Amino acid sequence: MSQQRISTQCIHAGYTPGNGEPRNIPIVQSTTFRYATGEQMGALFDLEASGYFYTRLQNPTNDHVAAKICALEGGTAAMLTSSGQAANFYAIFNIVSCGEHVVASSAIYGGTYNLFAVTMKRMGIHFTFVEPDCTGAELEAAFRPETRAVFGESIANPALTVLDFEKFARAAHAHGVPLIVDNTFPTPVNCRPFEHGADIVTHSTTKYMDGHANTVGGAIVDSGKFDWDAHADKFPGLTTPDESYHGVTYTQRFGLEGAYITKATAQLMRDFGSIPSPQNAYYLNIGLETLPLRMARHCENALAVARFLKNHPKVSWVSFPGLEGDKYYELAQRYMPGGTCGVVSFGVKGGRKAASRFMAGLKLASIATHVADAKTCVLHPASTTHRQMSDAELAAAGISPDLVRLSVGIEDIADILADVEQALAEV
Ligand code: PLP
Repeated sequence: MSQQRISTQCIHAGYTPGNGEPRNIPIVQSTTFRYATGEQMGALFDLEASGYFYTRLQNPTNDHVAAKICALEGGTAAMLTSSGQAANFYAIFNIVSCGEHVVASSAIYGGTYNLFAVTMKRMGIHFTFVEPDCTGAELEAAFRPETRAVFGESIANPALTVLDFEKFARAAHAHGVPLIVDNTFPTPVNCRPFEHGADIVTHSTTKYMDGHANTVGGAIVDSGKFDWDAHADKFPGLTTPDESYHGVTYTQRFGLEGAYITKATAQLMRDFGSIPSPQNAYYLNIGLETLPLRMARHCENALAVARFLKNHPKVSWVSFPGLEGDKYYELAQRYMPGGTCGVVSFGVKGGRKAASRFMAGLKLASIATHVADAKTCVLHPASTTHRQMSDAELAAAGISPDLVRLSVGIEDIADILADVEQALAEV
């Protein structure tokens, strides 16, 4: 059978039941797996045989769901993590050590920024942040001899900038390092970073993939295309024997297609243990089955909201990469022509107070520190997550006092628009 389309993969990839076996991915709720002899178990420990022995490293339910996400992204290997934060941490730490360096877009999720700029810095890993719209020369200037990766978000949360994949991939590859892309917002339904030069993709599956605000989770996918051996001096963890794992050399034993994820599983999952529960992986899979249907609806509704806001007299500005005339419209058309995401940012005339009044007036949309699930929700950073900051401090953090982030859900668009309209009338 020819390569299945993404809607079919969302239903079927990663798990093919045998005769008389469960049609749904079974939840293997077991920490351990039984073997008849110590030798059999020993072969698993030595990575000489494949199989399960302890769920902190691998679990069949999790692996089926990871295999589905791998197929959706067009990768060669994938793993689930217990959160998007864990996915981004593992993705970098798997190939970057103390004393080394990463170039990252400055337009990234605040939690990821903190992980990089504060926590990983304490581990001796340094980041240089560059504007997503920087020139080639500015990007080039950010590299150092000890740079080991480049990182960006395909659509940044909450800035809604679209990554210029080719610019970032070209620079990364010229320096012999991989481009790692967090593809949470568009999902592989709308954007496939491997087709535009990315080497590793990460996800907060907590967002559209789960899609119902049920479970926190993450995923890492390897394209299998980055040639670690060609830059062996930069990546000794993959290209020389791992003494903590019986002397295995990951690229030799697992090839370019499996080395990166096997190392992340065997070393990082073993030592940090951020594994999702099989039950959560099962819920995630239910979300994945309807991802294309939901993404289409999220995007359609968000575009209608963005157009409505653009023409509203009480709205000062609108940011949505799917909106004609948006600063990132052209890049979005190039990299995600079928749709972007369901998140729209905008400013309410009258600043912090007016935005606050708008929020209070909403009846259908809930105020929530979340984005990207079925229910429309809204956040006004200046009166919630960033309420302790002055307007000047907000500006320095790139957040205007009037900024409202609306995560447009999949309710009937007439009801969403009516809610936004009546709340704006209250301002
Ligand atoms: N990446 C992006 C783009 C996000 O928006 C988030 C969370 O909002 C994360 C990563 C972190 O994911 P999680 O909350 O699942 O740890």
